[in-house]
Amino acid sequence: MLVNLDLHIHSRYSMAVSGDMELGQIAKGAAHKGVKIVGTGDCLHPLWLESIKKLPEDDGLRRQGDTLFLLSVEVEDSRRVHHLILLPDTGKAEELAEGFSPHSGNLHQDGRPRLHMSGAQIADLVFEAEGLIGPAHAFTPWTGMYAYHRSLSECYQEKADRIRFIELGLSADSDYADRIAELSDKTFLSNSDAHSPRTNKLAREFNQMEVEGCSYREIALAICREKGRGPTLNAGFFPGEGKYNRTACTRCFHHFSAKEMNDLMGRCSHCQGQIKLGVADRIDLLA
Ligand SMILES: [Zn+2]
Ligand SMILES: [Zn+2]
Repeated sequence: MLVNLDLHIHSRYSMAVSGDMELGQIAKGAAHKGVKIVGTGDCLHPLWLESIKKLPEDDGLRRQGDTLFLLSVEVEDSRRVHHLILLPDTGKAEELAEGFSPHSGNLHQDGRPRLHMSGAQIADLVFEAEGLIGPAHAFTPWTGMYAYHRSLSECYQEKADRIRFIELGLSADSDYADRIAELSDKTFLSNSDAHSPRTNKLAREFNQMEVEGCSYREIALAICREKGRGPTLNAGFFPGEGKYNRTACTRCFHHFSAKEMNDLMGRCSHCQGQIKLGVADRIDLLA
C-alpha cells in the first residue's frame, strides 16, 4: 500500500510555533491534506510526550482519528546543526530524553532542544534507542549539516554509514541532492517543518512510501529501502522558491553570486548586512 507521510513538524512547545499545534488540530489538518502519518515533533518534551501517551497505541504509532503519529523530534547540536530523529515508541523517547538531559539546558523548555553534543555523540544515543537519525533540512545556510560540514562523516564520524536519510528542506529537492556523491545510497525525505496546522504549512512537503502496513517498523524499512519497502515520491516546492535557495543579504535580501559574496567578504554592498551563501551555490561547491 502507498502511504503519505510528513515526518517533521513542531508542537506548541517549540519556539515561535502556533498555539494551535496540538495533536487534535494536527490530526485534522493532516487528514484534510491526505497525509496519513505525521511525525509528532518535539517528542522529548515532557508535556508534549504526556499528551502523545494519552492517544491509543497502534504498532508503535499513536492514533488520533484517521491520523497516525510517529514519534519524532528535531535537536540542535553544539555546532548549531539540526538533526531529525525518529523513534519506535514512547518508552524509547523517554530513554533518549534521559540520555540527553545531562547535555542540555533546555530539554524541558524547548520542543527543539539544544544539546551540547556532536552529531556523532547524538547519533550514538539514537542508535542505542533503536531510532533513526539524519540531518534536518541538510543544506540550509543557518542550521543545515552541509553549511558547517563537507560530508556526513565530518558530522557523524564513524556513525556516518548508519545514517539512512537526509531531509532535503524547502530550498532543495532530489535533483540537487543527487549531485552529492555520498548521498547516492541515502533516502531523501521531504517534510513540512510546519509550525502551524494550516493547509499552507502542514504537509506543504511530504513523502509517499510503499509499505505493507502502518507501523514504525514498516516506515523504518521504507526509509532504509529494505524488503521491497521504499519511498516512491518526494512532493515538494520548486526549490527556487525556498527562502534559502539564493545567496543573499540577510538584512536587505539583495541577491549576490557566490563570487560576489567572496569578493565582498560576506558584507552586503547595499546595507553592510551579512551575506549568506544560498543552497544552490552551496550545492555547486559541494558537487
Ligand atoms: Zn530545523
Ligand atoms: Zn543588504
